[in-house]
Order: sequence, then structure tokens, then C-alpha cells
Amino acid sequence: MAKLTGTRRPKKLPYDGVRNAWYSTLPDPKPARILQQDVTADWAVLGGGTCGLTFARRLAELRPDDSIAVVEAMRVGYGTSGRNAGFMLKHHSHGGIKNLDAAKNSDRLFQTGQGYLRDIVEQHQIRCQWNDWGQIYVSASRPGEAHLDDVADGFQTLGIEHQRLTQDEMEGITGTRFYQRGVRVDGSALVQPAAMMRGLGETLPPNVTLYEDTPVNEIRSGGGFTLVCPEGSVRAPKLIIAANLFAEEMGFKKHRVVPIASFGTLTRQLTDDEKKHVGGGGEFGLLPASPNGSTVRLTADGRILMRNTLWYARSKRFEDDLIAEMERRHRQSIAERWPALGEVDFEGTWGGIMAFTRNEGTVWGAVADDLYILMTTDTAPMTRGTALGKLLAEDLCGVDSEELRTLKAMPQAAFVPPDPILKFYTERRIKGIERDEAGER
Ligand SMILES: Cc1cc2nc3c(=O)[nH]c(=O)nc-3n(C[C@H](O)[C@H](O)[C@H](O)COP(=O)(O)OP(=O)(O)OC[C@H]3O[C@@H](n4cnc5c(N)ncnc54)[C@H](O)[C@@H]3O)c2cc1C
Repeated sequence: MAKLTGTRRPKKLPYDGVRNAWYSTLPDPKPARILQQDVTADWAVLGGGTCGLTFARRLAELRPDDSIAVVEAMRVGYGTSGRNAGFMLKHHSHGGIKNLDAAKNSDRLFQTGQGYLRDIVEQHQIRCQWNDWGQIYVSASRPGEAHLDDVADGFQTLGIEHQRLTQDEMEGITGTRFYQRGVRVDGSALVQPAAMMRGLGETLPPNVTLYEDTPVNEIRSGGGFTLVCPEGSVRAPKLIIAANLFAEEMGFKKHRVVPIASFGTLTRQLTDDEKKHVGGGGEFGLLPASPNGSTVRLTADGRILMRNTLWYARSKRFEDDLIAEMERRHRQSIAERWPALGEVDFEGTWGGIMAFTRNEGTVWGAVADDLYILMTTDTAPMTRGTALGKLLAEDLCGVDSEELRTLKAMPQAAFVPPDPILKFYTERRIKGIERDEAGER
């Protein structure tokens, strides 16, 4: 590995807007510990999402005498890890398995990540509405049905038990005949993601110091690394970049991932009368078989979560008119499923960014001497990212396991072309899916 030299300044800092409704329904957090002096640590972790926090926790468990500083630009739970749909997937199939070994390896990673998350939530009694409900993949029109058959075939090939559901059975669960069919799989959990992330941040081992509301404006290298923040700095001999797609903005792993945003809306809590329209009020979680479909939940506290739309997210910014358009789409998707709830008030609508590779490859491991990257990608990114964080810590501490060997055997993320080529092809693909599978949204 080569040494990193010089100074890197992120071209962009995270700005996720003011609308993470999962977060805004939580009580106010304790005041943030903002970095206001120059400190040193044995390890610095840049980014407090699931990847960064899991790495820090596992490292702290294995090296109780080492000091670890995690530096996060916003509050933990506010960023992507706290603004997703809350599926902590143990298994996932998106159908059409071309490489069985690769699919099995991914599934093993999901199990590792989900198991670790579950242990932490249980051990620390993190109140995040964790519910082992599993997931139902759904289809609403003919193209969706073809995808759903692929999903079922995928589970069949992987040897994972699953159950097919009819339209009547779907109606029994959700109260709508919008869905033609479903495929149910056990083992995954539904959570309130902002609550889970906040809980993970609040229960870190004592040798981890978490700095929040502390953006890193500069990474200086030479005799270790210095993270320069507005009111202080962290100096450490080893650095882990766990900044999701913002790693690219610092010049790391460019042209390896496609930046895609998706959007969520959370309604206010439904009344008892309103709950009668959505299957009676019991919690559920639906994943679309079609890439143009909607992820839909009825949460433990009686809110509808609607997630849909893919958007090329090179800008990493969600302007007001984009969010207004997503709000309109989500209202329409709710009305098509439950006409009586078409006017229900929204707690908020928001966007978040995700990384996709061309080859389900990894963005993980050393990028220079003592400098490592952790970026979760592709499917089931929360449990995948948790596994990546755990396994990187174990690798750096010499803890071998079958899971680690599995991860190391996975291919690195393949090259993706720069813009405008990538933007052109991605937007064209999204438009095609939106046109051909319109009935799924
Ligand atoms: C609407 C939506 C729904 C989704 N649903 C699901 C789901 O149900 N299940 C699932 O598995 N996945 C889901 N995902 C994807 C998943 O949430 C993300 O892939 C995952 O959270 C990424 O985790 P991370 O730790 O890599 O990144 P992040 O959570 O983004 O953490 C990176 C952190 O780095 C910080 N950072 C970046 N730059 C700097 C800097 N310069 N200084 C300091 N800090 C910095 C950021 O503030 C951020 O908090 C969804 C995503 C979206 C948008």
C-alpha cells in the first residue's frame, strides 16, 4: 500500500435537509458533544452511520485499551442510516441469481450484520420498535409479477424458506386489493431507524468518543492523519472513512459506485378508525419486487411509511421542489392503495443517498497505509454495512472467521464511467423502469 500524502478537502459536506420524519418524531436528543479542541486518539472514524458506529463498537470490544474517536457531521440518526425504511434484512433476494456463490456470500453477510445488530439492540435494550416481522415482497401488476417470480426463484435457489401469498391473503394483512400476490420470508426485522441509530450512538463502549455536529473540513496526512473540523481537530495514526458516498467527495474510491437517492414519507399516527383501512392496525412491512415499486410499512405506532422513486443523486442535495414532487407521488401511492387515506397528514418527506456497484462488489478495506474505507452498497445495505464494519474491525485485530474469508473472496467494485455517461445511462434506465412498470408505484 502507498502512503497518503497531502491534504484532502471534501468538495461537499452532508446536507440532508430538515425533514427526516423518523428523527423528528423522537424526543429531542441530548446535547451533542461537539469537537472544540485538538485531541489525539489511536483510531479516527469519519462518519457515524451504521458502518462507522459498528466498526467503532467492534474495535472497542476487541481493543478495550485503544481510544477511538468517531466524527460525525450531523446528529447520529439524522443521516441515511436513520432515514431509511427500517428493514434490517437477514435474507434478501432480488431474483435472477446469476452467480449462486456470490448470492450465498451476500446472504451470509446480511445474517452476520443482522445478528450483530440484534445482539446490540437486545443487550442495551435499545427502544427502536425492533420487530422480527420478516418481509413480504409484493407485486401489483404483470411486470411486478414477473419480478416476484424471480424473487421466489432466488429464495428457492438459496434454499431459504418462503411462502407465497394470494391477493386475498395480502388483503387480509394490508386491507387493500392493490397487491396481486406476495412472497413472505421470515427472519428480518422492522425498526424505527432513527431510534435504533441514536441508541447505537448512545451505547458505544467507554473507549469510543463520539463527536456530533462536527463536519470534517480537511484530512491532513503525514505521520498519521489529522481531521480538521471547524472548532478542533482529531489526530490519529489510523483512519477509517465511513462517510457513505461522501468518500468520493474526499477523492477516495472514485468511479466505483452509482449515486442513487430514494425518498420516504411518514404519515402522522392513524386513528383507530383509519387503521381499519390498513388491515386492522397490525404492523407490516412490504418490499416491492419491481425496482419501480414502493416499500410500504404500517409501523408499530400506527404510521404509514411510503418509500419510492429512484433518482440520480450526483448532487447529493434535495431541493424543495424535488421533495414537493416526492410528497405528491407518495400521496398518490397511498391514495391508490387506501383511497380513504389519500388526504392523511404527513409528518415529513425526505431523501437519502445510497451507493450501487455494477457487479455487487465491495468498497471495503485498505486504500493506503493505515487508511481504510467502509462503504455499504447494493442490496440490504444496513445489515451488509453492519457486517462490513464488524468484519473490518476483526480483520484489523487479527480475528479470523468464515464470514471474513467470505467477504475477502468477494470482488472489489468494478469501474463505473464518469459523468455525463453514467448520468445519461442511469437516468435512461430509471425512466424506462418508471414507464414500463408504472403500475407498481
Ligand atoms: C429512503 C431510503 C430507504 C432505505 N431503506 C433501507 C432499508 O429498509 N434497509 C436497508 O438495509 N437499507 C435501506 N436504505 C439504505 C441505507 O440506509 C444506507 O445504504 C445506509 O444507511 C448507509 O450507511 P452508511 O453508514 O454507509 O452511511 P450513512 O448512514 O450515510 O453514514 C455516513 C455518515 O458520514 C457522515 N459524513 C459524511 N461526510 C462527512 C464529513 N465530511 N465530516 C463528518 N461526517 C461526514 C454523514 O453525515 C453520515 O452520517 C435506504 C435508503 C434510503 C435513502
